[in-house]
This record gives sequence, structure tokens and C-alpha cells, in this order.
Amino acid sequence: MKKQDRLARIDKFISPYRITSGKNFALDDIDPADTHGLGSERKDEAKDLLLKGVQWLAELQDKLYAQDNYGLLLILQAMDAAGKDGTIKHVMSGVNPQGCQVYSFKQPSAEDLDHDFMWRYMRCLPERGRIGIFNRSYYEEVLVVRVHKEILQRQKIPPSLISKNIWDERLKDIRFFETYLARNGIIPIKVFLHVSHKEQKKRFLERLDLPEKNWKFSLNDVQERQHWNSYMKAFEEAIRGTATKHSPWYVVPADNKWFSRLVVAAAVVETLERLELNYPKVDADKRKELVAARKSLTGADS
Ligand code: ATP
Ligand code: MG
Repeated sequence: MKKQDRLARIDKFISPYRITSGKNFALDDIDPADTHGLGSERKDEAKDLLLKGVQWLAELQDKLYAQDNYGLLLILQAMDAAGKDGTIKHVMSGVNPQGCQVYSFKQPSAEDLDHDFMWRYMRCLPERGRIGIFNRSYYEEVLVVRVHKEILQRQKIPPSLISKNIWDERLKDIRFFETYLARNGIIPIKVFLHVSHKEQKKRFLERLDLPEKNWKFSLNDVQERQHWNSYMKAFEEAIRGTATKHSPWYVVPADNKWFSRLVVAAAVVETLERLELNYPKVDADKRKELVAARKSLTGADS
């Protein structure tokens, strides 16, 4: 199949999940159990496709690195046990580790809290030529901080600046920040792994039942589950407030891991393909240098 046709297929596959304008977005419109009509009997086929996607991604990443103009910022947000870690592991499995930087953001440190909220994330932005992955990100500032207002109190913001519009203000700041990044060639792509309440429970129970998964179990995750509706509302508002053409959200059905990984791989491949990456052209001087090097390598005294 020609590359253009493959790309058109990919676009058709991922476009239901791509949000480029928040205007009419509702989280309920995307079913966490959706598999784009692929039954579970096609799981193996999907896994093969993922392997092809991973290979394609590796080729694109090689060009991204060689060209050294663009950077890609892949943001992963989700409720616990939605599969962020596994997605990173599988989708990035073919990528040269030198071209990829992963940062996981946990609770902020005392040093972090002595700065504006973007500070710690800005320090970790990908260089040109790299794929940067944020496992959680500055979106936590309008998610967990919004759900647990006491966290906001710990952020040492001057009280007069904490207005009732603070969440809209933060969303606006994030939107502007992402526009700024895109204008600089650091391309943001944001993924929400949309798992259902029911599937999360199943995965937590698995963590309790299976000895090799026990280490992943956290009581805190179960407590956060009580705030499910507030989180869903915060996610919806965040997506509505920050989905744009140059910085889209992908709301990825995540009840089936084989499916969500395929969608994320496809979204990254498509984003990179649209950049029309190319290996740098060799100029006349460089070409002369290469000819001379070949001569010296193949000459009688070598
Ligand atoms: P895993 O459990 O797979 O190791 P994780 O991302 O869930 O990964 P944890 O250490 O379990 O890591 O949780 C990190 C916690 O830090 C989350 O509960 C998250 O909400 C919280 N967190 C992240 N960013 C912020 C922030 N800016 N302010 C407050 N809490 C935050
Ligand atoms: Mg956790």
C-alpha cells in the first residue's frame, strides 16, 4: 500500500478520537469500551498493526533527530490504572532511547512550590529532534488540584490572585503556552486514556489478586476513585478549554489495552508524518568531503 493511502487509513482510524475544538465536546460522546468496530477476535491483527506502527514511528523519529528542527511533546493523562505506563512501553518500544525523554510528574516538591505552576514542566520540555513524553503533566494543575482544593492552598499563590475564575485562567494560560510551543516547532499532542469506572475496578482487583501486580496496588488510588465524577468533570473542562488544531487532544477509549495502544501509536505517527520530516540534504562541499573520504578509505595504503 502506498504511503498516502496508509496515512489516509490512519487518519480515518483516529479522527473520531481527535478533538481540535472544545466547543461541542462532551466526554460522554466517547465510549471507553469502543474498539472502532474491531471485535476482540481481531486482537492479534491489531497487535501486528501496532508492531508495524512502532517500526514506522522508529523511522520517523530517526528523521526527526537528523533534521533537528522539530520536537514532539506527547502528554499522557488518565485516571489510575488506565494504562499510561504500558502505553509508553509499547508505543515507544522501537524508538532509539537517545531520541526520547520520559518524565513522570508526581507530587510537587518544596522547590517546585516556590515557583509558578509551569516552572517544573518547562524545565523538562523536549529538545529539538526529540520526542518528550510527559507521564502526567501541567494538566494536573487543573485536574488533581481542581478536585482537591487544599492543594491549591499549598501553592503559595498570593490570596488576592486566587479568584473564582482561577480554573478558566489556568486553562487559558495552558492554551497560550501550547500555542507558544507550537510556534517554536515543539509540537504538543495530548492523550487522555479514557477508562471506565467499571474497568478501573477490575484492574484494581487484579492488582490485589495477582502477586506479580501487588506492588502496583495503592490505597490512595482507591480513595481517588471516590472523586471519579469530579475528575471526569475536570477532564471535560480541561479538554474543552485547550483542544485546538495545533494542540489537539486524543480521547482514547482505554478499556481495551490492545486498542488504546494502537490509537496512540497511530496518533503519534500521523502527527510526525504531517511535519514532512526529511534527512538533511548534503551540500556540494560535504559531497566532496564524502568522495575524498571514500578515496582515502579504499586507497592502496588503507
Ligand atoms: P504509577 O502509579 O504508575 O507509578 P502515577 O503517575 O500514578 O504512576 P503516583 O506516585 O502513584 O504515580 O502518583 C502521583 C500522584 O501525584 C498522583 O496522585 C497525582 O495526582 C499527583 N500529582 C501529580 N502532579 C501533581 C501536582 N501538580 N500537584 C499535586 N499532585 C500532583
Ligand atoms: Mg499511581
